[in-house]
Amino acid sequence: MSGVDIADSAMAAPPNVPISDVSQAQGKPAFVAPRTYLDQTRPVVPPTPLSAVDREQMEGLRTIRAFLKVRTSYDVLPLSFRLIVFDTSLLVKKSLNILIQNGIVSAPLWDSKTSTFAGLLTTSDYINVIQYYWQNPDALARVDQFRLNSLRDIEKALGVTPIETVSIHPERPLYEACRKMLESRARRIPLVDIDDETHRTMVVSVITQYRILKFITVNIKETQKLRKPLRDLPHVGTYSDLASAFMDTPVMDVIHMLVQKNISSVPILDKDKTVINVFEAVDVITLIKGGVYDDLNLSVGEALLKRSDDFPGIYTCSMQDQLSTIYDTIRKSRVHRFIIIDEDSRLKGVLTLSDILEYTLLEGEADE
Ligand code: AMP
Repeated sequence: MSGVDIADSAMAAPPNVPISDVSQAQGKPAFVAPRTYLDQTRPVVPPTPLSAVDREQMEGLRTIRAFLKVRTSYDVLPLSFRLIVFDTSLLVKKSLNILIQNGIVSAPLWDSKTSTFAGLLTTSDYINVIQYYWQNPDALARVDQFRLNSLRDIEKALGVTPIETVSIHPERPLYEACRKMLESRARRIPLVDIDDETHRTMVVSVITQYRILKFITVNIKETQKLRKPLRDLPHVGTYSDLASAFMDTPVMDVIHMLVQKNISSVPILDKDKTVINVFEAVDVITLIKGGVYDDLNLSVGEALLKRSDDFPGIYTCSMQDQLSTIYDTIRKSRVHRFIIIDEDSRLKGVLTLSDILEYTLLEGEADE
C-alpha cells in the first residue's frame, strides 16, 4: 500500500475516533493499517452458522451433482426404447394424430433433404399454429396444408421463439445436459450423435426433465437428506404473479398465458381460489386433434372434458413438504409439477420440474 492510501483511509475514519484510540484499544503496537479504518465504515456481519439440516441438505445436493457429473445421458436411457422422428415434410395435422396415437407429446425433426437433425417439435409449436390461426382466421384452409417445415415461417410471422434446436451428445456428462436444459429453458433435450460410417448426425433419443429427476431419485438415496421444508426454501418454486384461471375462462386466454409467461401449466381455481384442476400445455394437443381449430372458442372447463381417461390427475403439495418427499413422489409417479396449496386447498404456488432441477444443480453453486 502506498503512503497516499494511508492518508486517504485516515481521512475516511470517523472524525471522533482518534487513530491512537483504535490501536490501543486492540492492545496492538501503534501501527495502523488502512483496512482498520475502511472496515469501520462497514458493519462486520459474522456468517450465520449453517444448521445441521442446512448442512445435510448441502451434502445431499453435492452427492447428486457428483453423480450427475460421472453419468452420461446414455445411462438414463432404458435398455430398449422406441424413437419416433418426424420428417419435416409431414403435414402438421398428421403429426398431431401420430403423437396422440403413440401417447407422446414431442418428436425430433429430420430434414431428409439435407439428412440433418432439424430441431425438436414440442407443444409450443402447436400453440404457435393455434395463435397463428387465431390471429388469421381466414388462414384455416392453409393451416390444414401446413407441413412441419412451414412452422418456422409461422414462428417468424408471430415473432416468437423458433423451434428448439439445443441438443447434446449422449456421451457428455448428464450434468452438462441438465445445465444446457436450464440455460435454454428446454424441458427436454435430444441426444444427437454422429454416425461412424456416414459421418452424418443421428438422433439417438430425447431425455426429459422427468426422466433425469427419476434417474436421480432411483439411484441416489441421499435425496433423503433434502429435509428442508418448502417454507424454508422461498426461492424454490413460484409464489407470486401466478397465472391462474377459472373453468369459464376462454381456453384461448389460458393458451396466451402459457405463451406470455413461457410456462407449461395454469392452475384452474374455483371462485374461492380453491385449486380444482390444471390446464397443461399438453392439453392443446387433444384440443386441436384432427386439425379441428374451431374448438378454440371453448371455455377451459369444456376443453378439459376432452382429456383422455388415463389422465394421471394433478399433484399437490404443501409448504411443509420437503424435497425428499417430492423426490419420493417423482420416483413413484409420472409427475410434472406440484401445485402448492394451503390447508384449505387454496393456491399458494407452483413447483415444477424446472424448479426442482434448477435448485438441485445450482443452489449455492456460486458460493462454492
Ligand atoms: P415450467 O415451464 O412449467 O416448468 O415453469 C417454468 C417456471 O415458471 C418455473 O419457475 C415455475 O415455477 C414457473 N411457473 C409455472 N407455472 C406457473 C404459473 N401458472 N404461474 C406463474 N409461474 C409459473
